[in-house]
Amino acid sequence: MTAPFQAAAIIVFAVAALYAFWRARFGYPARNIPGVLTYHKVVDFEFGGTWISPRRFERQIRAMIDSGYRFIDERTFLETIEGKRPAGEKEILLTFDDGYDCIAENAAPVLDRLSVPSLVFLVSGFAGEENSWELGLPGRKARHMDWDTVRKLASGNVSFGSHCESHRPLTGMNREKALGEMVRSKEEIELRTGTEVLSLSYPFGRVDPETASLASQAGYRAAFTLYPGGAASETDIYRLRREGVWVIDTPATIKVKLSRSGLFWLEDIKGRMINAVADLTPILKKK
Ligand SMILES: [Zn+2]
Repeated sequence: MTAPFQAAAIIVFAVAALYAFWRARFGYPARNIPGVLTYHKVVDFEFGGTWISPRRFERQIRAMIDSGYRFIDERTFLETIEGKRPAGEKEILLTFDDGYDCIAENAAPVLDRLSVPSLVFLVSGFAGEENSWELGLPGRKARHMDWDTVRKLASGNVSFGSHCESHRPLTGMNREKALGEMVRSKEEIELRTGTEVLSLSYPFGRVDPETASLASQAGYRAAFTLYPGGAASETDIYRLRREGVWVIDTPATIKVKLSRSGLFWLEDIKGRMINAVADLTPILKKK
């Protein structure tokens, strides 16, 4: 065999092995439920991978609309996954984790102009305060929305879910403590907005079977992770899949994420790798 041919054969074999591993471990998720996108910060610059600039954010949202995607609100999404309405073609739910002020400042005005509903997950114990649970890289201190801002957005096209009280990972926490995080944050957001909180987003996307059963016990109708492990083709209402949108994403990669076929698997591996880095935070913060 010649050298270029050998190299090509090795690459083909490696890609096939990677695909086989991914297919066995994760697999394509269900196609009959709407895709869910997750953003974190919409800011001009930050160290890290969980942000996007306001200009690129607007371009991505417009690109999705121009490509025939339709953004649905939280209630419509829940009715769909509960089987109360059929899933429409190309429907998406837009979510933001952490409830940073930059979302109110830079994302909400764009979404208002385009009439796009969204679901924002708040860390109830940090309203109006600077984020101290994330790794303190330079220029990374972000402020969470205060309750006045939350109320203002809640009167418009934004619904609010809970991202717990302290943003500590629930897995590994004792039962009562984890349940307390879920119950108190739900109650506080309901008290402040006057609206029922229906959805939960697990801090760092971390969930195990016990945590998922606590989310149901705490009274949530649904709970979201980012990249669930295991039988992804089945819809578990307390381990809902979302597609993270990261600093390196473009409208083209977002469409691949939502496709759930073809090259989706490569995007899935990319997302899982980026999320694994973000997931190091609770480990590094402990030191
Ligand atoms: Zn978070």
